Amino acid sequence: MSIIPTTMMAWTKTADERGGFSLSQHPVPSLEENEVLVQTLATSICGTDIHIWKWDQWSRENVPLGTITGHETCGKIVAVGDGVSESRIGETVAIECHFACWNCPRCNEGNAHICENGTIFGVEVNGAFAPYFSAPSVNARTIPEGIDSKFASIQDPLGNAIHTLTGGPIKGATIAIHGLGPIGLFAVNAAKAMGAKKVIAIDWDNQYRMKIAEKLGADMVLGKEHDIVAEILLATDGRGVDNSCEFSGSPKALANTIRSTRMGGYVNVLSVYGNPTPEIPMNELVFRYLHLKGINGRKMWSTWDTMHEL
Ligand SMILES: [Zn+2]
Ligand SMILES: [Zn+2]
Repeated sequence: MSIIPTTMMAWTKTADERGGFSLSQHPVPSLEENEVLVQTLATSICGTDIHIWKWDQWSRENVPLGTITGHETCGKIVAVGDGVSESRIGETVAIECHFACWNCPRCNEGNAHICENGTIFGVEVNGAFAPYFSAPSVNARTIPEGIDSKFASIQDPLGNAIHTLTGGPIKGATIAIHGLGPIGLFAVNAAKAMGAKKVIAIDWDNQYRMKIAEKLGADMVLGKEHDIVAEILLATDGRGVDNSCEFSGSPKALANTIRSTRMGGYVNVLSVYGNPTPEIPMNELVFRYLHLKGINGRKMWSTWDTMHEL
């Protein structure tokens, strides 16, 4: 086994400004009880990392200066703390970035992703733009065999997509995906794989991503030249879709989801809005008897299990 060094260089948010990253020296983390030390294989760059790079209001309020960022990652366990079986050493794992206390009302009801005492890896505590990182053993999820580490690191956003979809019916259902960024595209693919009857993919005008949506199985792709609500109603016998997923962060798209979801249907929103109080057609939400749900993180561990089954 290779020797674990005592110090390492890691990408760190060090300056209170746009950009503001530097490669700084840190100790290799020492392990607390029930933690594992992971040697990083791959870490992907998330939209959240771009927010931190831009140093917008959300980042300034949530990311302490001096934090090693990076949360979408996979690696190999090289050491274990007290309480963790040594047999985990050598395992290749991906990280669930929501660290939970497992002992609060939210954790006890099965919603550890919104733990009252939770912290977010690579955002609030040191993450994986580093050669080594530590994490609770339970957050280090074994990767199914045969998955390349390049792909294993993106289970965090793939899990976001599946968590959003599972806020409403999927099998045999009509589904609209608003916003075709990486997570929206994952959702198109996952919805088809999970047996959706019809998937309608909507973006503003990113032709490249709209083409990918088509390749991933979208039955219909709509863009800025379409009247989105009218087209969705037309494609669903005037009813609207069973399940709308909003990934775009556009207030207009949010209003569209409400107007194009069937009576009693489901609107699941993963987006973060630049304007945190977008206009919502409330009366339509009420009279259409819609379920509007905010989505955050991944269910521990049903989202991960679904992802690995797929
Ligand atoms: Zn992420
Ligand atoms: Zn908790």
